Amino acid sequence: MKSKSRFFVETFGCQMNVNDSEKVEGLLLADGHERAASAEDADFVFINTCAVREKAQEKLFHSLGRLKKAQRERPELKIGVGGCVAQLEGEKVLSRAGNVDLLVGTHNVARVPEFLRRVVEGSGPLVDLDRSADSFTVPDADVAHSSDVRAYVTAMEGCNHVCSFCVVPRTRGTEVCRPVDAILTEVRGLVARGYPEVMLLGQTVNAYEHDGVDFAGLLAAVDAVPGLLRLRFTTSHPSHVDARFAAALRDLQRLCPYLHLPVQSGSDRILDSMRRGYTRAGYLEKVALLRAAVPELALTSDLIVGYPGESEDEFQETVDLVDAVGFDGLFVFAYSARPGTTALRLDDDVPETEKKRRVRVLNERQQRFQAQRHAERVGSTEQVLVETVDAPGRLSGRSRRFQLVHFDGPAEWLGQLRQVEITGSGPNALTGRVAVQPLH
Ligand code: SF4
Repeated sequence: MKSKSRFFVETFGCQMNVNDSEKVEGLLLADGHERAASAEDADFVFINTCAVREKAQEKLFHSLGRLKKAQRERPELKIGVGGCVAQLEGEKVLSRAGNVDLLVGTHNVARVPEFLRRVVEGSGPLVDLDRSADSFTVPDADVAHSSDVRAYVTAMEGCNHVCSFCVVPRTRGTEVCRPVDAILTEVRGLVARGYPEVMLLGQTVNAYEHDGVDFAGLLAAVDAVPGLLRLRFTTSHPSHVDARFAAALRDLQRLCPYLHLPVQSGSDRILDSMRRGYTRAGYLEKVALLRAAVPELALTSDLIVGYPGESEDEFQETVDLVDAVGFDGLFVFAYSARPGTTALRLDDDVPETEKKRRVRVLNERQQRFQAQRHAERVGSTEQVLVETVDAPGRLSGRSRRFQLVHFDGPAEWLGQLRQVEITGSGPNALTGRVAVQPLH
């Protein structure tokens, strides 16, 4: 392999992983390497993995299996694995796959270019799973953001919760919050480079606290950055929703009225077994607090069905909660036992076919509800930030409530705000036409 390689980064999982991959790509570009169009064209493939569900984990091994053929034809092809599966499974990944040259944990993405150099020189396989490394060291300018419109900015990493089903505390460690000044410097730099929207990231981002600044304080500071058009954040935990947080959502001008607030189950027994730290009534109280402050708030959530011991009645409690809240979007997952989690000790006794049925029931219900909720928007006017050009003259963007909106317009509008009159709707998106002249 040449000393400067063509690389391809494949990413599975959450926004945090996408942001880590953006850092890897940016660092490789800064080191003089070039992007390849596909894994098959690359000299170096980096797979950034997700361990949250077994299915996500298996994607790594499918990808590695697929690359074996390319490696037989081009033995100089190098493969790196990063992210949560690397952190969780460690060197087992090397022995199971047999074709991995470097393995880096969730806190070590900054070392990928250095490792690549050493692997090309003949060292390997190389492994760095040290979680004490500072994961915020990648220079802001070296992050190769995958969108020209929405830039991810890490606010905190890790999680201090102990949910029974979740590998994140094991893979990403306990909470580490980034200093406010470092976040503000990155956001100012992004605005100067033309990014209209920033999304603050953290596993439990609303638990943020650094030097006496809480999450509401951080939001206020970022919201005040001149030139920023929109501010979002994800993911939040219900336990850290309080009056200050609700007031920030109500009062800050650029902060969008959208919140992803995972509930996971509507059954108190299951919530307790999951160690979520709140009850069904507690969750509903938080929703009431938020909606009293921000009546137009769009609320989305995650649910796990088929958790060990989940009875039909307990599942129905979840269905009832979904009906009671009326979420704007839902991500429903079938429980899958993960290594190193406390739920592993429980009997995974809900049959897979039943888990699938429960997923289907909730998804069908949600689709009907969303179709109805979207239909109510027809005739309204939404502020839309143009995010993609789908075809010549055809644009897509998001409303402040994160609804996808399709409409006609020129490519030059990318990254700009438009007022769009909503003329049609479906379960997943709205359609419309530009109502008034550009805002700027
Ligand atoms: S709050 Fe629970 S589900 Fe979320 S990252 Fe932490 S342990 Fe995992």
